[in-house]
Amino acid sequence: MAKKYKTSCHSNIQLLKAYHELLKDKRIKKTAWVERILRTRPVRSLSGVVNVSILTKPFSCPGHCLYCPEEKGVPKGYLSGEPAVERAKSLEYNPFLQTRIRIKSLEKQGHPTDKIDLRIIGGTWSYYPKNYQTKFIASSFAACNTASQKTTKRKIKSLEKEQKLNEKAEHRIIGISIETRPDFINKKEIKRMRVLGITKVEIGVQTTDDAVLKLNKRGHKVKETILATKMLKDAGFKVSYQVMPNLPGSTPKKDEKLFEDLFQNQNFKPDLLKIYPCAILKEAPLYKWYLKGKYKPYSKKVLMNVIKKAKRGTPRYVRIERIIRDIPAQRILVGPAKISNLREDIVNQIKKEGWRCKCIRCREIRNQYNPKEKLILFREDYKASDGIEIFLSFEDKERENLYSLLRLRIPSSVIEQNPTLKNQHLPLELKNSSIVREVHTYGQLVSIKKRGGATQHRGLGKKLIREAENISKKEFKLNKIAIISAIGTREYYKKIGYKLKGTYMTKLLMNRPQQ
Ligand code: SF4
Ligand SMILES: [Zn+2]
Repeated sequence: MAKKYKTSCHSNIQLLKAYHELLKDKRIKKTAWVERILRTRPVRSLSGVVNVSILTKPFSCPGHCLYCPEEKGVPKGYLSGEPAVERAKSLEYNPFLQTRIRIKSLEKQGHPTDKIDLRIIGGTWSYYPKNYQTKFIASSFAACNTASQKTTKRKIKSLEKEQKLNEKAEHRIIGISIETRPDFINKKEIKRMRVLGITKVEIGVQTTDDAVLKLNKRGHKVKETILATKMLKDAGFKVSYQVMPNLPGSTPKKDEKLFEDLFQNQNFKPDLLKIYPCAILKEAPLYKWYLKGKYKPYSKKVLMNVIKKAKRGTPRYVRIERIIRDIPAQRILVGPAKISNLREDIVNQIKKEGWRCKCIRCREIRNQYNPKEKLILFREDYKASDGIEIFLSFEDKERENLYSLLRLRIPSSVIEQNPTLKNQHLPLELKNSSIVREVHTYGQLVSIKKRGGATQHRGLGKKLIREAENISKKEFKLNKIAIISAIGTREYYKKIGYKLKGTYMTKLLMNRPQQ
C-alpha cells in the first residue's frame, strides 16, 4: 500500500493526488487543515468564492468592432490559445461538462467549491437564441447539482427545477455573470436575465467618447451605456465595465478623461472594471490599419502612466478586476498589450512611488484575516445613475484591509421627481423599494456547513444587511427592501426573514402590506 501512495517528488499536486487516493480508499477522513496546506494557487478561493468560467458556443455577433478578432470555431472576440477557450473547445462547449470538470479540478487542487461564482463568457450573450440561453444555464445548474455524484448520466431538468434543486445543493451558484453590449439592455432583457438567475452584467463600454466609438465601428453611442447602466443598477445588478484605452482615435489625454468620466460622472460609476488595452491581432480588421500606418499603439511607459492615473483616481467602491486580457502574447503583434505581466509591473511601480491603489481588489483581506482586528463600519454615499448608492463596509481603521461590503441602492424612481418616469423600467417587485445589489465577505472561502475561523460566517454580512434595512426605513421612509439574490443564496436570506417575490428576496420594513 505504501508503494501505491508513494510519490517521487513531493509537489503539492502530487501530495494532493495521494491525499485524494487515500480518501477514496477510506484510509483517512476529509481534513480541512491538510487541504488548506496542500491547496495549490490559494488565490483561487481567497475572494470568498470560487470562479468557474465557461464559454458559450461559437456564434456571430451583430457588432463590427474594428479591434475585435474573429476566428473560426471560437466565439467572436475570443481566440484559441486562451486557457478558458482551450478548455471549452476540448469539451465541445458543453456547459454541463465545462462546469463539472472545473469544479472537480478546483476540488483536486484542495479548494472548497460550495460557493460558485459562474462566469459565462463568449460573444454577446443577449444575441444568442433564447432557447440556447435557457438550456445553457439549466445545464450549468445541473452540473453543480450533481457534482458530488459519480454519474454524469442524469437527464437535465427544466431551468426552474434545476434552480430549485440548487437552493439546497452542495455546490451552490452564488452569482452568475454574462457579457453583453449596452444597446441590448432593455426592460424585457432585464426581466429575462433575472429569470435565468443572472446577478452581474459586464458591458462593453470601451470609451466615453462618441467620436472614438464611431471610428471603431461600435454601433452604439455613449447614451446607450448611460441608459443601460441606470436600468441595470435600478434592477439590482452589479455592473462591470470593460474599457479599452489606446483605441484608434484616442490619445493618452482622452484616455485619462475616460477614467475621469467613469469615476466622477454620476452617469457611469461602475462597480467593477476591466481595463483591456487595445491589442493588434491578425484576426481583427484593425490589423490592416496597423499595416497601413493608420494606427500605432502607445509605448509601454505611456500606457502604464494612463493606467496608473486610472488607479490613482479609483474610488474605494470600485473593484479593478483585470488589467490586460488573457490572450496568448504570441497572438498580439506589437505594443504593450503583449506584456502579460503588465499589471505586476504597474503594481511594483506604484509600490516604489509609495502609494496604494484603493480599489476593492487591492484591499481584500484574503488570507491576512486577524480575529483581533477591531473592525469599523464605514459608509460612503454617492449619486449614480440618478439614484443614490450607499456603500457599506467593514474595514480596519486605516482602511487598508477590507473584510466585508454591501451595496445599497435607492433607485432613480424613488429619487427622481418626474412622475412620468417613475418605475418605468423597474421590475414590479422593486416598486417603492430599496435594493441591495451586493453583499460580499472576503477572505478564504469557508464551506457553507462550517462556522468561525475565518472572515466568512462571522456575522459581518448580517450586520451590513441590518444597517441597510435601517437606512432604507429611517432615512428614506421605504417600507420594503429587496436583495438581488442568486439562486444559491436564497436560503441564507430566508433565514434572516426575507421572502422570495418574483426573482428577488424581499422584506417588509414597516407594518404595511407589500405592494
Ligand atoms: S460587440 Fe463585442 S463581440 Fe461583437 S464585434 Fe464588438 S467587441 Fe466583438
Ligand atoms: Zn486596485
